Amino acid sequence: MTAELEQADAGRDFIRDIVQADLEANKHAGVVTRFPPEPNGYLHIGHAKSIALNFGIAQEFGGKCHLRFDDTNPAREEQEYIDAIQRDVRWLGFDWGENLFYASDYFDQLFAWAEDLIRAGLAYVDDQSQDDIRLSRGTLTEPGKNSPFRDRGVEENLDLFRRMKAGEFPNGARVLRARIDMASGNINLRDPVLYRIIHAEHPRTGKAWSIYPSYDYAHGQSDAIEGITHSICTLEFEDHRPLYDWLLDRLPVPSHPRQYEFARLNLTYTLLSKRVLTELVRGGHVSGWDDPRMPTIAGVRRRGVPAEALREFIRRIGVAKSNSVVDLGMLEFCIREVLNRTTPRRLAVLRPLKVVIENYPEGESEELEAINHPDDPSAGTRPIRFGREIYIERDDFMEDPPKKFFRLSPGKEVRLRYAYFITCREVVKNASGDVVELRCTYDPATRGGHAPDGRKVKATMHWLSAETAQPAEIRLYEQLFSNPSPTAANFAADLNPNSLEVLRDARIEPAIAAGSDAAPMQFERQGYFVRDPDSTPERLVFNRTIGLRDTFAKEVTGKK
Ligand code: ATP
Ligand code: MG
Repeated sequence: MTAELEQADAGRDFIRDIVQADLEANKHAGVVTRFPPEPNGYLHIGHAKSIALNFGIAQEFGGKCHLRFDDTNPAREEQEYIDAIQRDVRWLGFDWGENLFYASDYFDQLFAWAEDLIRAGLAYVDDQSQDDIRLSRGTLTEPGKNSPFRDRGVEENLDLFRRMKAGEFPNGARVLRARIDMASGNINLRDPVLYRIIHAEHPRTGKAWSIYPSYDYAHGQSDAIEGITHSICTLEFEDHRPLYDWLLDRLPVPSHPRQYEFARLNLTYTLLSKRVLTELVRGGHVSGWDDPRMPTIAGVRRRGVPAEALREFIRRIGVAKSNSVVDLGMLEFCIREVLNRTTPRRLAVLRPLKVVIENYPEGESEELEAINHPDDPSAGTRPIRFGREIYIERDDFMEDPPKKFFRLSPGKEVRLRYAYFITCREVVKNASGDVVELRCTYDPATRGGHAPDGRKVKATMHWLSAETAQPAEIRLYEQLFSNPSPTAANFAADLNPNSLEVLRDARIEPAIAAGSDAAPMQFERQGYFVRDPDSTPERLVFNRTIGLRDTFAKEVTGKK
């Protein structure tokens, strides 16, 4: 077991240890955390880790967790994302109560503090172009160069900054920079940008502002205004912490939060980058942010993953200080574990092949009993119809089977789940030689699936009566990327061309159609499925959340 897992098993991690120690030392009256998404895309399962950490700590230590939108760049942010993020956090099972905030709530205060910095000689307006600023920033091994505008007087800076605010200059004409140290070993301290000019309509402040604070400037000050005690973020912000503290140390803020960094979640076969996810949507590689192949929270929800499974996954991976890549199999394990426990069993035939049971009386049918959950007798049973014409799974028949194939083939006998033993007598083909129907006989003495003479069959197959089965569309998914470590820069090359298979001619038992919209089900031998919102009353559509474990395949072939 890895160190990360041991930590998770103990229900502890280094951040929870810090919080506990701070509370024991009476550093704070109570813990206050925040989850600070930028509304420039939908949340993904990496964000779920951050959400579970921030909200989880607040819950466990009797504190509060704020939901704060980092809405500082109207060029990229939209109300649709603000709404989606709230929906997704709630669905995950977390509640911010009254503590919903926006960085834009603080624009006036942030502006006033920026003027304070200018007055103290700690910020200046730079007229250089973005490119020149980048070029003069230096590298990891070389210091940067001072801007020719760095020594502007306070009055000129104040005047220019106010005119930036008033909208006098075009995008990119000027920025406000902190005046720190162009030779700092930490590039983030080389006079970082605090404000940039953006002429765009903001979802909340409309056209009131023409300048917007940078993440680095807005974030720490927003934390301080809200009295955040532990500002938890991902490791890439470790090098920003000196800037976070530099600003808090110099501004008349009401509190000085501490920033702590943890390792972001990375998953095999998955890219957790909003930029890539945005391009997948815009480029039409997926049907939208909630495409069931997307690693977004909206996508996994539509796919049928229960919130409980996602929370359990996050609990298991734990919180560590060094980056690593988690096996997608771990998430799949958690999904199966929850679905196996909670879903009712149903019968569906994904690729139907018609079977006529020749010795079953024409025009008759009968009711059999199917169990709803093998490990939970209280889930009860339901009636299923059996008759002369049924559908079986096309894959369960082979005309010319290899030795190890135990399912149906000419002359072979198998068990129909909950029903009878049947034997294949004849194969009916169309003009092009495709198998279109099987003629079988059944043994009436095997009702319920047991032969009184004790004879055994090696396979148990699911089926549906042709009379009562209803048509449905079923969507099967595989990983969106075929490469276990897809590259963000060239993600299109790593896309899996077979990530979606649509079965338009599937059949489902009536209990599936009668079931509720959102509840996932197990289709026996096929996996876990949930109804897709594309369903209409005439045509139900189901997503396969995930297949069953391979062990089931062994079970049905009789090799327990
Ligand atoms: P970007 O900033 O490029 O738009 P982002 O994924 O960082 O993308 P934010 O909205 O800023 O998006 O993220 C909100 C919070 O979620 C941040 O605190 C961030 O550290 C955290 N977060 C983002 N990705 C992950 C991840 N893969 N694992 C854990 N936490 C993450
Ligand atoms: Mg971010």
